[in-house]
Amino acid sequence: MLFDKVLIANRGEIALRILRACRELGIKTVAVHSQVDRDLMHVRLADESVCIGPNPSGQSYLNVPSIISAAEITDCVAIHPGYGFLAENANFAEQVEKSGFVFIGPSPDVIRLMGDKVSAKAAMKLAGVPTVPGSEGAIGDDNEQTLATARAIGYPVIIKAAAGGGGRGMRVVHSEAALLNSVFVTQSEAKAAFGDGTVYLEKFLENPRHVEIQVLADGQGNAVHLGDRDCSLQRRHQKVLEEAPAPGIPEEVRREVAESCVRACIDIGYRGAGTFEFLYENGRFFFIEMNTRVQVEHPVTEMITGFDIVREQILVASGRPLSIRQEDVRFRGHSFEARINAEDPRTFAPSPGTVRRFHAPGGPGVRVDSHLYSGYTVPPNYDSLIGKLITWGEDRERALLRMRTALDEVVVDGIRTNIPLHQQLVRDEAFMRGGVSIHYLEKKLKS
Ligand code: ADP
Repeated sequence: MLFDKVLIANRGEIALRILRACRELGIKTVAVHSQVDRDLMHVRLADESVCIGPNPSGQSYLNVPSIISAAEITDCVAIHPGYGFLAENANFAEQVEKSGFVFIGPSPDVIRLMGDKVSAKAAMKLAGVPTVPGSEGAIGDDNEQTLATARAIGYPVIIKAAAGGGGRGMRVVHSEAALLNSVFVTQSEAKAAFGDGTVYLEKFLENPRHVEIQVLADGQGNAVHLGDRDCSLQRRHQKVLEEAPAPGIPEEVRREVAESCVRACIDIGYRGAGTFEFLYENGRFFFIEMNTRVQVEHPVTEMITGFDIVREQILVASGRPLSIRQEDVRFRGHSFEARINAEDPRTFAPSPGTVRRFHAPGGPGVRVDSHLYSGYTVPPNYDSLIGKLITWGEDRERALLRMRTALDEVVVDGIRTNIPLHQQLVRDEAFMRGGVSIHYLEKKLKS
């Protein structure tokens, strides 16, 4: 039986995206929101809404007892966490299940397994997914052993915290003289930041691209991949402009890594939508982490495959076997996504405030996922993402031309946005050729 009612434990564009998928499936929705968020688009559209607390996310979107109570008083059957906030929190997933609701995502055990980078990497290695050369698991107290491990990997190496996330808990070391002290500092920082000082060593790849594989699985022995995305244009580890498929990768290499991800899903009993993130350098893939949730950039995959990833998440969570077989997955054309942020395009300072006028672009192959409307006030309390502009074309060039046209059409008055940055990027020669590394954007911004 499909769910009767779903609680959406998120805000902004992804909450609206989930609401739309629920509506199409005939599922009633409950929006939960902080005080300042009562005017969010999805709150207006939801069948019911509950204010779960004051503006700071710690007291609202991360407030587990409030969210569970909201699900109880509204008779929800399942909870969709979206991305960010509680989406990859195994304890939350566990609480949801213990309270008698379905968590739309993988089991708490799998979230935990993939949330710890050391155990995730070990599981991937076992499943035959290519990983970055490095230490066998965590490094211990034996300094001689640590030095020998780093020597065997070859400098530069990167020290990474097992519990790290969001680009934090990492340190690059270029020479042996700095290794032991850096290990000590990273361990102490990780202990303070994440409550777990476990660290491990990896080869530091100097000029990689970020390429990731989208998967869907049902936890009943079925899994498929929906191909890859290139998310190399990043600033401070935040993705800015993404595309699918990743340009210029040989078909066999692409297929081989995607198939290894499918096998890994079956091995670990994965359920739901997920993403395997890789660094790609010199024609080879190296696993870095798995995201056990829907991602911001999922639409580019939807555009080239025609599947609705959020719909599939919901169907699989309700206990249905995956309806898609690998042979049903056909890739067509190319897609780009520009993340529109409420921020200054040069200084990147957040720019909250009231949107006086909003005009969305349109035409063939243009999709806008945004909760914006004229008169909406972007609050200062949360992430600055205010929408996503997605385009599709028969080939990369046409998808990019459409992105240019769409970016020149969109109007967001009253606040500053990064649209001017995107307008520059879609005319950048290296980006137009395709295949720039994860350092390209930051270098370009400095010059
Ligand atoms: P987080 O969970 O913090 O996002 P990741 O393991 O995904 O951590 O790494 C975040 C970023 O750090 C990557 O996108 C990449 O830019 C950089 N990074 C991680 N591991 C390596 C490595 N072995 N070599 C080079 N860069 C790396």
